[in-house]
Amino acid sequence: PDSVRYSGRFAPSPTGPLHLGSLYTALASFLDARSHGGRWLLRIDDLDTPRNVAGAAERIIDTLFGFGLQWDDDIDFQSQHLDEYAAAIERLRERGLIYRCICSRAKLADSPDRYPGYCRNQNPDPSQAHALRLACPNQDIRFIDRLQGPMRQNLAKQVGDFVVLRKDRIFAYQLAVIVDDCRQGVNHVVRGYDLLDSTPRQCYLYQLFGQAPPTYAHIPVIVDGKGQKLSKQSRAAAVSTHSGARTLYRLLCLLNQAPPPSLRNASIADLLDWGIRHWQPAQLSGVARISQPVAHDY
Ligand code: GLU
Repeated sequence: PDSVRYSGRFAPSPTGPLHLGSLYTALASFLDARSHGGRWLLRIDDLDTPRNVAGAAERIIDTLFGFGLQWDDDIDFQSQHLDEYAAAIERLRERGLIYRCICSRAKLADSPDRYPGYCRNQNPDPSQAHALRLACPNQDIRFIDRLQGPMRQNLAKQVGDFVVLRKDRIFAYQLAVIVDDCRQGVNHVVRGYDLLDSTPRQCYLYQLFGQAPPTYAHIPVIVDGKGQKLSKQSRAAAVSTHSGARTLYRLLCLLNQAPPPSLRNASIADLLDWGIRHWQPAQLSGVARISQPVAHDY
């Protein structure tokens, strides 16, 4: 029977070059897609314009190419779909689920995890700088993560009404990601554990739009010696394709795939081929963090 074809994606933000942690995520989603005979798409998440770095998207694209992570179809750029995000918010607004919020950062400092709903019934004047929030239900959102198991979150109690359009007029990640994944037909998401907590918000948006959410697999994030996630903020070094095969071998180890030592000097193509044929994501089950081995010439 015709089953829906696996479609996965990698969606980096062009805020800097790929570091070992982001390449790790790219490789995992690539191996998962290819081992399922699936499509693997590349999207550049360039909505957050103040954080974009000139030239970063090109560098990311070159690096993926250099590591043999060949994507399908044309590269998608969020910045070309602004009208779609606006239309999605409009649909929610028509259902009375959107409200203006003028709360300042300082006002929210005391409740960093959950928005207490100050503006929910205030109807602030639209001429004031405001964000748009989605009113959330007092109801458990559940999903089963392929690696982390059954998850549950009550949006009203644990997150509060969340932002879909920021005060600086930038569409929020939570909204954009579901519009993007729907447009691209993505039905499998493999991404870092740090986004696990965002997933119930996204599941709720899928519910509102009458769409089935993708299947999720949240893989560990790589942490440095201080236990901090490798990121641009923690100044993780850019990966280089210079010793690409060695880096790939190391990444397969960090993905708990236990590549045989005989592959230590294999080519990029052979490593990817081995990785696809032997991909066992269950080796990452229940793992939130993986420590980077002693620094090397990545
Ligand atoms: N652009 C997001 C990031 O770099 C990833 C979005 C996602 O995988 O859902 O963190």
